[in-house]
Amino acid sequence: MSEVLLSATNLVKRFGGLAAVNDVSIDLWRNRIHAVIGPNGAGKSTLTHLLSGDLPPTTGSVSIGGKDVTGWAPERISHQGLGRSYQKTNIFLPFTVWDNVRLAAQSREAQSPWNPLGWFSDTRRVATKSVATHARCERAIELSGLKDRRRAVASTISHGEQRQLEIAMTLATEPQVLLLDEPLAGMGVAEAERMVALLLLIKREHAMLLVEHDMDAVFALADRLTVMVNGQVIASGTPAEIRADAGVQAAYLGE
Ligand code: ADP
Ligand code: MG
Repeated sequence: MSEVLLSATNLVKRFGGLAAVNDVSIDLWRNRIHAVIGPNGAGKSTLTHLLSGDLPPTTGSVSIGGKDVTGWAPERISHQGLGRSYQKTNIFLPFTVWDNVRLAAQSREAQSPWNPLGWFSDTRRVATKSVATHARCERAIELSGLKDRRRAVASTISHGEQRQLEIAMTLATEPQVLLLDEPLAGMGVAEAERMVALLLLIKREHAMLLVEHDMDAVFALADRLTVMVNGQVIASGTPAEIRADAGVQAAYLGE
């Protein structure tokens, strides 16, 4: 059953006199990819920062899983079920694929504000948690298509595989909602196709907001599209509706 996992209402972010995000509302549904497109400087990355708590909104609100998380710190929002990747990589290059994923999973546990296994003895708790973490990392690596690369040192894998690793690291924190900022950036055709297939697999279990410039990928992936220009939403709808929108053609797609 589909449901809204993240809901943002009338978000505004001002930097001095500039409204980088100007009255944007968006709902992210489980099993759906919502793409946000628009020219450079439109406010797409700023929007992702408002959703993940990396920036507080000037006004407006964000709720995740029905809970109002407006103004929460990023770690707390991550615990509420939001995982994100950044345009800049978080990979630790001297470490293996496996160790990067394991570190990402553990970084979340270390910050856990409560302990659901607290009634176990310490030893048993650590062992149980470690088995669960291991299984979670295995799954994240498999889902990201890196099963055969798990022992490879991150600096030696291809650019496309590094982007897959970032997805694996995000999945290892067990998010319900994924925010991906330009996951196809810098990819060749074959790498981009592999990433599109990967994102379609991930969508089966998550809600996803996808910021992406590769329009072939966007139209192959998105269930819904929001078009931003100068901080504002100029159109929102299905891929077919957006393709047919004359204003969008003029402002962006036709450029
Ligand atoms: P996009 O991701 O769509 O290219 P951004 O969200 O990065 O756009 O930027 C939107 C606008 O906000 C741009 O004009 C950018 O220069 C400005 N901006 C982004 N972050 C900051 C910041 N921290 N301080 C001031 N201005 C910013
Ligand atoms: Mg950006």
